[in-house]
Amino acid sequence: MSNVLKKEAFVLPEGVIYLDGNSLGPLPKAAAGRVQEMIADEWGQMLIRGWNQAGWMEQPTRVGNMVAGIVGAPEGSVVMGDTLSIKVFQALASAVKLRPGRKVILSDSGNFPSDLYMAEGLVGLLEQGYELRTVAPEEVKDAINEDIAAVMLTEVDYRTGRKHDMKAMTELTHANGAVMIWDLAHSAGALPVDLAGSNSEFAVGCTYKYLNGGPGAPGFIYVRPDLADEVQPALAGWLGHRQPFAFEESYQPGKGIERMRVGTPPVIQLTALEVAMELWADVDMQELRAASIALQEQFIEEIERDVPQLTLASPRNSAERGSQVSFRFEEGYAAMQAVIDRGVIGDFRAPDIMRFGFTPLYLDAEDVSKAVAIIRDVMKNRLWDNEKYKTRARVT
Ligand SMILES: *Cc1c(COP(=O)(O)O)cnc(C)c1O
Repeated sequence: MSNVLKKEAFVLPEGVIYLDGNSLGPLPKAAAGRVQEMIADEWGQMLIRGWNQAGWMEQPTRVGNMVAGIVGAPEGSVVMGDTLSIKVFQALASAVKLRPGRKVILSDSGNFPSDLYMAEGLVGLLEQGYELRTVAPEEVKDAINEDIAAVMLTEVDYRTGRKHDMKAMTELTHANGAVMIWDLAHSAGALPVDLAGSNSEFAVGCTYKYLNGGPGAPGFIYVRPDLADEVQPALAGWLGHRQPFAFEESYQPGKGIERMRVGTPPVIQLTALEVAMELWADVDMQELRAASIALQEQFIEEIERDVPQLTLASPRNSAERGSQVSFRFEEGYAAMQAVIDRGVIGDFRAPDIMRFGFTPLYLDAEDVSKAVAIIRDVMKNRLWDNEKYKTRARVT
């Protein structure tokens, strides 16, 4: 696994075991310097010339190709920009247009709220009988039928880590004549993804979680190449126009995936992300997956042996999990605050989920054992039972 573990490439604060890379990845050491250079030499010295001279304008597709490489997508099928929520909206709006006459968007109740809110918002705009239908994750299969225009699912559940079967679900969706949209927020950089092999029409994702692009790093969108010149982007921005600098009065979609761009890209943020993506060049995703499962299995085994107060909330079968493990505990919020106070950073998701992410690029077996010892101490000695851990912060 020589090319998977690369702790030395990240800033990892002394005394911290970071089990929250599924929410915000750590800072790649090379990013700070590269961003500073970009600011000083490109923005500072080139000014507006940077768009041409420093390649800022191509950055969303250049970095998109790097992301494509780790989600099994071909060159030229992924573009960066905006936030994941916006990319969800774009994919949904384009997907329903591909199926005129069908009015239902199907998702599951375990999906991330923003994905569902975006679908609600779109349905509200479209009116004309459009509907968002959500069912329990286990019931999605039975709910796919010929009324459905688009099935929108997040492959890995943000709360429990439960993983949908991407290939089988896409096949079923297609067998019913519907369009498939995958949200890869908890998949990209977490496990091998075979987008091309799945034959899915759309995929979206974010880059500040497992890809370590930093807070506010842009989202990405994938459109299956055979559809890229056909889809109608709902958010028709000037940089998705065929010729942005012709400044035409009316919108003409750009070539291929370029049409999914909207406005000015976040160049500083993309620069940090580009550095982070360079770290993936020699990572074998199958090896990463094997390392992730080994860390998760070790964690589950040691927690169940040493910390009987916690109940596993994630699927026990590792093949049905992403790269995180969740446990339930009634006072989970306070317990997580007490654990964080002692250097083990995970997070909490209402109502009672303590969530731990496993990221083999910068975590090893020794970290896992150290983390379990701290969690055990907090639980065994009720160290969480303290007022200071019970007031909820704005971000949990
Ligand atoms: C993290 C996450 C989001 C967040 O969307 P942003 O627009 O980047 O804030 C949305 N959907 C899913 C499934 C997520 O995991």
